[in-house]
Amino acid sequence: MALKLYNTLTRKKELFKPIKEKTVSLYTCGPTVYNFAHLGNFRAYIFGDILKRYLEYKGYKVKHVMNLTDVDDKTISNSQKEGIPLNEFTSRYEKYFFDDIKTLNIKPAGFYPRATEHIKEMVGITKKLLRKGIAYKTADGIYFAISKFKGYGKLAGLEKAQLKTGARVSKDEYDKENVQDFALWKFWDEKDGDVAWETEIGRGRPGWHIECSAMSTKYLGQPFDMHTGGIDLVFPHHENEIAQSEGAEGKKFVNYWMHCAHLIVEGRKMSKSLRNFYTLRDVIEKGHSARAVRYLLLSTHYRQQLNFTFEELEAATKTVEGIIDFIDRLKEADGKNHDTSQIIKKATTEFENAMDDDLNISEGLASVFWLIKECNKLLAESKIGKQEAKKIMAAMRRFDKVMGVMEGKEEKIGSEIEELIREREEARKRKDWKEADRIRDLLKQKNIILEDTGKGARWRKTLR
Ligand code: AMP
Ligand code: ZN
Repeated sequence: MALKLYNTLTRKKELFKPIKEKTVSLYTCGPTVYNFAHLGNFRAYIFGDILKRYLEYKGYKVKHVMNLTDVDDKTISNSQKEGIPLNEFTSRYEKYFFDDIKTLNIKPAGFYPRATEHIKEMVGITKKLLRKGIAYKTADGIYFAISKFKGYGKLAGLEKAQLKTGARVSKDEYDKENVQDFALWKFWDEKDGDVAWETEIGRGRPGWHIECSAMSTKYLGQPFDMHTGGIDLVFPHHENEIAQSEGAEGKKFVNYWMHCAHLIVEGRKMSKSLRNFYTLRDVIEKGHSARAVRYLLLSTHYRQQLNFTFEELEAATKTVEGIIDFIDRLKEADGKNHDTSQIIKKATTEFENAMDDDLNISEGLASVFWLIKECNKLLAESKIGKQEAKKIMAAMRRFDKVMGVMEGKEEKIGSEIEELIREREEARKRKDWKEADRIRDLLKQKNIILEDTGKGARWRKTLR
């Protein structure tokens, strides 16, 4: 089947056709580096990761760019509160962001351009817009005139009546009900402290939206294939990116726009401003594993809202443990070789059909779990030998190229634990059940679960 993706611009599932046959140019709006990213943000980045991994699974080379917003209202005011230079402040949160995406096994983008290193390009676009009469200058900055750009509102589906022409807003984030002219360039004022660039269009700093127009097209060209982000970015951020880039160049900006629905908490979007958020570090400190967080965030279809609860995280933990346990069983398989090629073929075809249908991950995962269930039955009957196990393992590794949950660190047990397992075996041989149970409980506290089999005890490490 061919890949179909839902395009926010056309509100339809469309057959995906990249500009260059085998390469996909992909831009993701990256973090504003003024604080730790929260799990809501990571839902958006994991959605981008699944999209990228599946494109690679299908044989595309993905040229992925993700920007770092290291200058805006929030970064400036927070660095001032701490009394440190802007770049010192933002580089701290950049580092935390990179640590977190590594922990979540999110594949890094090919390039992470910083806004502060692309002022020249932003000035270039602003100059073009001024020249064409689509932008105008006021006492406090340079604004984009939405009335001068015919297609304004096409991404968000706005009616002309909603556009308040002539009204202006200079803040980077503003009331979504009021559709107004927005700042491309803000002339320096006292609030900016020492943050300012001397440029041909005046001394000041860029607005937020122009950053992404400049950095995406610089590295991916115009038009490029795909642009992703959370649904809240559709308006005004992405609408404004389109207006700026298409207004300046007179040609299409992006072919496919993809947005993920929100991670919510008790019915409301997880966000910093509502103070209902958890960072990755918060949940890991509570003893949860990054693999379970990743699984939870990826396992609901990206266009469906996902409600965050610790019960769901617990369930995700169990699911990932089930996958790891299955892999461990495969490694130990030494039964007869029952042919599993039909099972592998069916699961793979169904997985691919589901993912081709706008990344229908829940159905995709259902086929992976069907394969696990069928093979676990065969393993229990000793009907899988080394050769067959290898084939199944290869299929699981292929699925995991997309899921990315099996790839965590190899769980090794320490010598102290090995010693306890041995002592317990001996207690069992002596029929000292009390001692055997005591050791079993002790091991459980150390996250080791024992299962007694005909060939002695099997152990597995839980994720927490
Ligand atoms: P920000 O740093 O606020 O620009 O957000 C970075 C990314 O996270 C953007 O793509 C947002 O749309 C996305 N995002 C923010 N909050 C949530 C949420 N609760 N659920 C899903 N995505 C979110
Ligand atoms: Zn952006």
